[in-house]
Amino acid sequence: MNVFETLREQVALGRLIEHDNGGKTHCVAPEHQDYNPSMHIYNRHVHCFACGFGGDVTDVWAATRGFDKPVEAALDLAREFGIELPDASPEACQKARERRAKEDLYLQQAKARHRALTGHPRVRNGGKLADSARSCERGSCSEPTRTAQRP
Ligand SMILES: [Zn+2]
Repeated sequence: MNVFETLREQVALGRLIEHDNGGKTHCVAPEHQDYNPSMHIYNRHVHCFACGFGGDVTDVWAATRGFDKPVEAALDLAREFGIELPDASPEACQKARERRAKEDLYLQQAKARHRALTGHPRVRNGGKLADSARSCERGSCSEPTRTAQRP
């Protein structure tokens, strides 16, 4: 498990962001003045339906604390919540960063698929395709990345 995965496991998004019962909250993207809550909190990630901001607990921390580099945000977040990271050596961080770039790509692809699916007339009526689109939104699409790279 890399630093980002550890943080996702250990820090619930609800500890960083206040939200209503429906999981809606104000967007955390610095450039988005979100007066009407348009960001949704899912199990392990957030998505803003107004500006498109999305990410996990580390991305939220980076956005709210002004970190440019995900790794710096991750280390700071871990310090704040007193979480011991598995391996925070520079080499491990570099590897985590590379893997994260791949994960982001998968998330983008999942989002694109989700858009394609929800735009399909048959999917709007429900059914299996719509379910798989929902699981993309929950972030489970990044699962294969993780399991595939386990030694
Ligand atoms: Zn937004």
